[in-house]
Amino acid sequence: MIFERLLIPDLVLESYELLTPETVRKMGAEAILSDIDNTVATYDDPTPPERVLEWIEKMRRGGVEVAFVSNNNAERVELFCKGTGCFHYAKAGKPSVKGLEAAVDALGIDKSKALLLGDQLLTDCAAGKRFGIPSVIVPPIKDKKTLFFRFKRLLEIPYMKKYGRLHGE
Ligand SMILES: [Mg+2]
Repeated sequence: MIFERLLIPDLVLESYELLTPETVRKMGAEAILSDIDNTVATYDDPTPPERVLEWIEKMRRGGVEVAFVSNNNAERVELFCKGTGCFHYAKAGKPSVKGLEAAVDALGIDKSKALLLGDQLLTDCAAGKRFGIPSVIVPPIKDKKTLFFRFKRLLEIPYMKKYGRLHGE
């Protein structure tokens, strides 16, 4: 089924930091076309957290380039990428492949040497698949932070129903 081909990632990792130059090369790639929001940082991080800069540096030392392809606006993307030296593309409209195309062109590589990194199946994973490159998916950072609250909310559902009934709603 076409949906499955577009939405099933090639690799799922708990965090972008678990993606190493060795893993990237094992997947036949030498460049990562990465999403920003909730993949390597939260919406609350206007600039890259230190660990993101370290991760980019580790990739470069291992011979792997990182480019950022984001659906967010130019202001957000430019501020975030300033100082990383990474190619970046805003308003990519993923699952459109235009940002991925621009990134491999800018890096001067064939797309067979690129992989996608992101947190969303419908936009990131699908864009990678449509472009014909492997998609690596990580759970959204914000969800990891709010996991406790989501769990709590789930637990509250039966009580809310009961409460509603008790009050004749
Ligand atoms: Mg995202």
